Formats: sequence, structure tokens, C-alpha cells
Amino acid sequence: MVAGGTARLLISNGGEAALELMVEPWADTHQILANQTLVVVTHSSAADGSWSGTLRVDEPFQVDHRPELVTVWVNGGCFHLNDVEGNAIDSADWQCPAQGSAS
Ligand SMILES: [Zn+2]
Repeated sequence: MVAGGTARLLISNGGEAALELMVEPWADTHQILANQTLVVVTHSSAADGSWSGTLRVDEPFQVDHRPELVTVWVNGGCFHLNDVEGNAIDSADWQCPAQGSAS
């Protein structure tokens, strides 16, 4: 059971060259290959499932785009990066509310 909320964000690279993806505030970088779609998932640690957004409250993500770099700001307590088949690529889940108190 998840106490807070879950937010999912699909990021697609529709270009012909790989894009850099940076996941903040962890400064975690990955490549999004041409025609690849990645899924960023985060969980809120707030019991009511709210998000402490950076610019406005209650927004789980903010995306900044530059020509060769996409930066995703995650306002939850963790992030999970998957491909569209659900295979894990990376995560910063040591404070993940959906994974209980596992260290
Ligand atoms: Zn999580």
C-alpha cells in the first residue's frame, strides 16, 4: 500500500539523435535514444499525496528542455526510471515511500 501518491511521466525522443536526460535533484543523467520512450515515476511521501513543487505547489514534475538536454525536476521523495516495458533502468529509491522502510 502506498501512503502518498504516484506520478508517472513519459518522455519520448522523437528526434534522430540521442538526447541527454537529467533527473534532478539527483543530477542523474541518462541517454534517451532516438525513438525511445522512458518513464519517470515518483512517489509522494505526503500522506495526502500532495507534491511540494518548486515553482507552484502540487506539481509532481517540471520539465526544462534545451536543444540536447531534457531536465526533469522530480518533486517526490524518489524516482524510478523505466523503459515502456517496465524494465528498471535506474532509480533513487532509498527514500521511496512505496517501498516501506527498507533501507
Ligand atoms: Zn518510489
